[in-house]
Amino acid sequence: MWSQRQEVSYALQRRAKLEALRRPGRALNEDDPCDAEPILVKSALHHGRLAGQECPICASDRLMLLDYVFGDQLGQYSGRIRSPEELEEMQDSFGEFTVREVEVCPDCRWNHMTRSFVLGDGRKRRAPRREETVEDIYG
Ligand SMILES: [Zn+2]
Repeated sequence: MWSQRQEVSYALQRRAKLEALRRPGRALNEDDPCDAEPILVKSALHHGRLAGQECPICASDRLMLLDYVFGDQLGQYSGRIRSPEELEEMQDSFGEFTVREVEVCPDCRWNHMTRSFVLGDGRKRRAPRREETVEDIYG
């Protein structure tokens, strides 16, 4: 069962940021939104899914979405990137965790959190025991 709840949209903040950028006389380097770290761009290219819309800054059609998961019950897996298929599996394996969706443009490095929501079946669980994973080795 897919029970998405407590969804928060950051569309207003996104629009405000974009409007501020288009304001004439904006000082360069002031709060540059195209500041995605190289690792974030790399993650977007490897794990992201196409956003299905153009980048609001450079009109690239490679705007990507990434889902990060956070939560006490996830233990060492908190803060990792998960695919929609993995999220669906996690939904039945954890009581509660937060998903933060981030859009990243690999061409101009624009990045912004687009929304967050909570998933999980609502049953409390203990965090999984720490195990070494492929991600620990390869990042
Ligand atoms: Zn772009």
